[in-house]
Amino acid sequence: MREKIHPQYQQTTITCACGNVIETGSTKKDIKVEICSKCHPFYTGVQRFVDAGGRVDRFKKKYGLQ
Ligand SMILES: [Zn+2]
Repeated sequence: MREKIHPQYQQTTITCACGNVIETGSTKKDIKVEICSKCHPFYTGVQRFVDAGGRVDRFKKKYGLQ
């Protein structure tokens, strides 16, 4: 058997650029992401990015946010 070619599914953490850490299971260790459910404007409703030509407003209307 060639077991070593199969990646091990294990407990790991996803670290977001905002500092949020999510525990999950993955074949990769110590995953880093730029955005997560906690800092994404869709979830937070907080405008974190520069509003270039009303893009954020259109985004909010599309998803029915304030
Ligand atoms: Zn985040």
